[in-house]
Amino acid sequence: MSQFSQLRNFASRAKDLLIFNFWSHVVWRSRQPVFVVLLGAPGSGKGTLAVELAKYLGVPQLSTGDVFRREVKNQTAVGRLVIQCMKEGSLAPDHVTFQVVRDELRAWQYRNGAILDGFPRNVPQAEMLTRFLRSRGIGLKIIIALDVSEEELLKRLLLRGRADDVPDVIKNRMRVYQNESGPLVPYYERSGRLLLVSLPGANKEDVLDYVLRRL
Ligand code: ADP
Repeated sequence: MSQFSQLRNFASRAKDLLIFNFWSHVVWRSRQPVFVVLLGAPGSGKGTLAVELAKYLGVPQLSTGDVFRREVKNQTAVGRLVIQCMKEGSLAPDHVTFQVVRDELRAWQYRNGAILDGFPRNVPQAEMLTRFLRSRGIGLKIIIALDVSEEELLKRLLLRGRADDVPDVIKNRMRVYQNESGPLVPYYERSGRLLLVSLPGANKEDVLDYVLRRL
């Protein structure tokens, strides 16, 4: 074989390899699941933003509060374990929450990821999530922390009027949020993927727009 045709052969193989690499990268990237964490006090608009982000990113929302409410309504074993915590506005035990989240995330509908609304709510839960995702070779895409004044939160919650939206329980949920979930902000800040959203007076469209521009 002449030197020229050897060179041409080599160039053609290199080109094939480049094309293969390009497409496998595209396929791999498009298959990487997308996990987003939403942090925010009760009434901060986490749930609303989760619904919008789920639509935009094409992955379902997973709200641990909704899962627990469903379990209570269906009077399951988990429901019986968490009902009292929910009535008081304190956190369900971590081992129960872990179990519930693990079972949910294994479902087919979350194969492409999830918008996590209300989980993690403390550092041990965040560590559990990191381990769970790492064992699948995935990381969090972004952690969005909604910062809303206490005055605004109270106003919104009293308007919402869910069963656990009564002043004493609200106060407890806020205290729990500050003490248990507050440390998640510095925890995630270290990852370099935390987006702090502090937009006083903004409506839900403004918040969504702000977040989408930074995804
Ligand atoms: P909010 O954010 O408005 O307080 P949620 O619907 O997220 O409401 O949660 C309602 C209740 O469900 C909480 O007060 C708590 O008892 C329970 N809960 C939800 N998520 C978790 C979690 N990750 N860990 C422990 N308890 C949880």
